[in-house]
Amino acid sequence: MNALPLLRAHEVSKSFGHSLVLDNVSLDVARGEVVVLIGPSGAGKSTFLRTLNQLETIDSGSIYLDGELLGYDETNGKLHHLNETQITAQRRRLGMVFQQFNLFPHMTALQNIAHAPTHVRGIKPAEAKKQALALLDRVGLADRAHHYPSELSGGQQQRVAIARSLAMAPDILLFDEPTSALDPELVDDVLQVMRSLSQQGQTMIVVTHEMGFARDVADRVVFMTEGAIREVGTPEYIFKQSTNERLRSFLGSVG
Ligand code: ADP
Ligand code: MG
Repeated sequence: MNALPLLRAHEVSKSFGHSLVLDNVSLDVARGEVVVLIGPSGAGKSTFLRTLNQLETIDSGSIYLDGELLGYDETNGKLHHLNETQITAQRRRLGMVFQQFNLFPHMTALQNIAHAPTHVRGIKPAEAKKQALALLDRVGLADRAHHYPSELSGGQQQRVAIARSLAMAPDILLFDEPTSALDPELVDDVLQVMRSLSQQGQTMIVVTHEMGFARDVADRVVFMTEGAIREVGTPEYIFKQSTNERLRSFLGSVG
C-alpha cells in the first residue's frame, strides 16, 4: 500500500472578484478511489474540478498529484510559477469530461480519440488507431469508429469523449456532470461505462446529480455548499446516517 494520496488538495481557496467561491477546501483522493461530489448549483463543484486541472488558478493552498506540486516548482526552498509548457504536461495527467462533450465535429470517433496520442504523445498513427479501436470497444462503440459526432447520439458522443480522455492514460479522470445534457434514456449507458472504469481501478472524481450512481459506485461522497465541504463519508453515511441539515435538505430536493 502506498500511503501517499494520488491527489491532495490542501486548504484551497479561490475568489472571483469579491465572491469567495472555494473556502479552504481540503480533499485527499487515494489511487483507485471514486469520489462523487454533490451539492447545489453554485456550490463551487465545477470551480474545484477546474482548479485541480489548472483551468483556474488558486489564491491560496496547494494541490499535489502523486506527490508533485501542481503549478509551481519548489526548488531551492522557493516557489516559482511553472511555465505554460510545464503546466500543460501536468494537466495531461488529469483527464476532464465535460457536460457538453466537446468532440471535434469534423473528426470521426476514431480520429477524435487518436488525435492527442498522435499529436501530443508522439504515438505512431497505426498504433494510436489500434489503441483508439480498443478504447471504443471499452465504451461499447466498436461499431461507431467511423461515425462523425453529428451521427451519434448524445450518450454515444459522451462515451467517445470518455474514450478520448482515456487515450491520454490520465492518472485521474474528472467528470463534471457528464450526464446532465443527455436525454434520460441515454444516461444509463454513460453511467455504465463509468461504473466499469471504476471496477478497472480508474481513479475518478465525479460531479453528478445521479444519486443512484453515487450510492452504488462512490467510495466516498463529498457534499459541498457555498464553496466549502460540509460532509464527507461513505454512501451509507451520506445517504442514511448523516444528520447534517443542509445535506438532508439537498438530498430531499434531488429526490
Ligand atoms: P457549481 O459547479 O457547484 O454549480 P461553480 O463552481 O460553477 O458551482 O460556481 C461557483 C460560484 O462561482 C458561482 O457563484 C458562480 O457564479 C461563480 N463563478 C464560477 N465561475 C466564475 C467566473 N469565471 N467568474 C466569476 N464567477 C464565477
Ligand atoms: Mg457546475
